[in-house]
Amino acid sequence: MNDTMTAAFLPGNSTVEMRSVPVPAPGHGEVLLRVKASTICGSDIRCIYHEHLGKGPEGYQGVIAGHEPCGQIVAAGEGCRRFKTGDRVIVYHISGCGVCNDCRRGYMISCTSEKYRRAYGWQRDGGMAEYMIAEEKDLIALPDELTFADGAQVACGFGTVYEGLEKIGIDGNHAVLITGLGPVGLATGALCRKLGANRIIGIDVVPERMKIATDLGLCDAVLASGPDNVAQVKQLTGGFGVERAVDCSANDAARATAIRATRKWGKIVFIGEGGRVEINPSPDMIHDQKTLYGSWVTSTWLMEELVERLVRWNLHPADIITHRFPLERAAEAYALMASGKCGKVAVCQDEELS
Ligand SMILES: [Zn+2]
Ligand SMILES: [Zn+2]
Repeated sequence: MNDTMTAAFLPGNSTVEMRSVPVPAPGHGEVLLRVKASTICGSDIRCIYHEHLGKGPEGYQGVIAGHEPCGQIVAAGEGCRRFKTGDRVIVYHISGCGVCNDCRRGYMISCTSEKYRRAYGWQRDGGMAEYMIAEEKDLIALPDELTFADGAQVACGFGTVYEGLEKIGIDGNHAVLITGLGPVGLATGALCRKLGANRIIGIDVVPERMKIATDLGLCDAVLASGPDNVAQVKQLTGGFGVERAVDCSANDAARATAIRATRKWGKIVFIGEGGRVEINPSPDMIHDQKTLYGSWVTSTWLMEELVERLVRWNLHPADIITHRFPLERAAEAYALMASGKCGKVAVCQDEELS
């Protein structure tokens, strides 16, 4: 192994800066991973790529980018208790203190320690590099049946969706509306299929995304975003609306549509980040006995459960990756993701690049 490696940084002016940095050595309880696949998230674009908008847990501190890495351990530091060299692993993308109440629940995303909560690719070095350091406690074993690109999709994308779907419950009685068909919306369609939803309706504004949802068979009907969406969804559901809705858009009008196109006693979950929504609580929510959930990322134990189910369902999250780039072309990868004219975009190495 060389002493130095290539790594991508995001200066915040819609460019990617490639730098040569030393290959780090794993400390106590840490491992060094050969990164195999590292996917780009909507939040990377929203908070870091164009400008550094994030504060607190979303504050970017100039570290190596990339919070959706998956790879293989090439060196394990002292004190590792379970994982060893050669193991294939997914990284839960936020490293928490491990001892606050949220960390003990497995929700390191919500860790309350200002000193120890550090997200990979935000406050500590992430996966847009040849190698990366991860703490052993943040690792999830990647089963042989799944590829590294599948694994990269689990932490943030599919894990976040699975958590939201567990909150509202999806089964064969349900028609589901998905507002926003970016990678998170596509993941919602894929998981709703396996959970047995009997009709899946998607809404988006980008024709490329609508086509991907249709081509991959993730939605039964795809609607172009517009003022008639609520009426259209009701027409597709016997006049009643859907039982479940998932907002992956963070768009004001789309969120209101998700609520209004849900029938009486229905459940809605908001996953898409940022933005606002304006609703009329009495007619839109209260009189129809609806429940609205918010859901942020997931826990380590639910990620483990999801990984097991992906194998059983023969569901490969990498199917929604439409573009793969080598590390040295990371700039093109970010620019494409920022354009929205794609499914998921991945930066890959070794066997994941072919
Ligand atoms: Zn992400
Ligand atoms: Zn904590």
